[in-house]
Amino acid sequence: MRLRRTKRRPAGKESPAGKRQPPERAPSPVKRTAPARRPPAYFTVAGIRLDLELERLRGLPAFADGPLTKRRPELKVRRASTRPNRVGFAVPAEHRLQVTAYPGIRPGDVLETLLHELVHLHVGRAREAHAWHGRTFKTTLARAMEEAYGVRGVGARSTLHGAYAEAIERLRAKPQLEMDLA
Ligand SMILES: [Zn+2]
Repeated sequence: MRLRRTKRRPAGKESPAGKRQPPERAPSPVKRTAPARRPPAYFTVAGIRLDLELERLRGLPAFADGPLTKRRPELKVRRASTRPNRVGFAVPAEHRLQVTAYPGIRPGDVLETLLHELVHLHVGRAREAHAWHGRTFKTTLARAMEEAYGVRGVGARSTLHGAYAEAIERLRAKPQLEMDLA
């Protein structure tokens, strides 16, 4: 049995349904948290685009199955005239973090702070001794540092800002081959 062809419609009276786009051509859904509309310069510290680096870092295996992979946190960059005691902080309950730029800050300094605060967002307040900087935090930070920058052998000793910064700076100064072997 042959299917009957639809009658050709007169020109200019095409069915609106015929113009509907197939579902796969529909625009992608709006992200729950649109990126902050700030200029690239706002996120640039020591020559590093922190917003782009954050996007890379939150895809690290160390952060798999955590809140960072699901949703981009809000990042704020503060600019201080001198180096403050607190170079960054994170608020896991609000999924946001802040890093502070200051005169003379190096890439290693700001990258250390950014990743340190991201680990806070991933771990939150652990149910263990030294909840914020306890064993889980140290282990996760050490793993993330290795995955992100190839830094090893620092994490078990210190969660203070500075130790990883030095390691990142040393590795950045080396050729890629040595960095892989470090
Ligand atoms: Zn901390």
